[in-house]
Amino acid sequence: MRLKDKVALITGASSGIGKAIATRFAEEGAHVAVNYRPGGQSDADAAQTEAASFGPTSIAVAADVSRREDVERMMYEVVAKFGRLDIAINNAGIEIKRAFLEVTDEEWNRVINVNLFGSYLVSQVAARQMVKQGYGGKLIFISSVHEDIPFPEFTAYCASKGGVRMMMRNLAMELAPYKINVNNIAPGAIATPINQAVLADPVAMKNAVSEIPWGRFGRPEEVAAVAVFLASNEAEYVTGSTYYVDGGLTQQVTLY
Ligand code: NAD
Repeated sequence: MRLKDKVALITGASSGIGKAIATRFAEEGAHVAVNYRPGGQSDADAAQTEAASFGPTSIAVAADVSRREDVERMMYEVVAKFGRLDIAINNAGIEIKRAFLEVTDEEWNRVINVNLFGSYLVSQVAARQMVKQGYGGKLIFISSVHEDIPFPEFTAYCASKGGVRMMMRNLAMELAPYKINVNNIAPGAIATPINQAVLADPVAMKNAVSEIPWGRFGRPEEVAAVAVFLASNEAEYVTGSTYYVDGGLTQQVTLY
């Protein structure tokens, strides 16, 4: 077991990549706090069922990552339950498809608030807790290949993930003296609910897959595998890096 008795908080963990990370971390011996967005009964039910399946040393915690009072209460609950925090995974994220000429302030702010501001809030609250504990920790962001490559009609999403990339690099420097490792995982196209529309459309799927050198969408478990490494003691000297899990997508250059 590579994460035995580590305490891990994973945001947006009631579905998709977050759920796969929570599941794998529990298998690796971690105590897992499964964060879910409050307000929807199905998210709450999914998170409670998931946490219960990991056994009595895991919990489900409600918090909208874009609200400081929620994030601070969540951290309080995690520390009250486990006594500490070793690993925080900033996974919660949303995207809105809208042409730049049409996007509204409300849509722009919603994406930035969850993906960028939420990652800042969770990281700051988590890092303060880790610094107080005095023995380091791991911060991991689930960014995207769009921290680097453009994606027309998803400008707010790209801006948020590009922002996460720079935040990660800065934090890697600022938090190194506290022995807190800070890294990104940048998934390519992964089969999760966020890609529901493409997954349900055979033509869109064919086009999307044709751009991926590996010839298929990725699985959430393939992202979780990298998260296990970055959260483990084996990643002691790894900080300030982005790990692409994209089947070669970022290397794809269309010449003709
Ligand atoms: P998903 O929709 O299944 O997961 C996103 C999760 O975030 C959901 O559980 C949702 O409830 C939660 N969430 C949204 N707003 C929240 C809030 N305010 N507070 C707390 N939780 C909130 O999709 P996913 O693909 O598993 O996405 C996980 C992360 O991976 C996201 O950050 C996404 O941008 C990133 N990502 C996904 C892909 C992909 O192809 N699936 C590619 C690149 C990056």
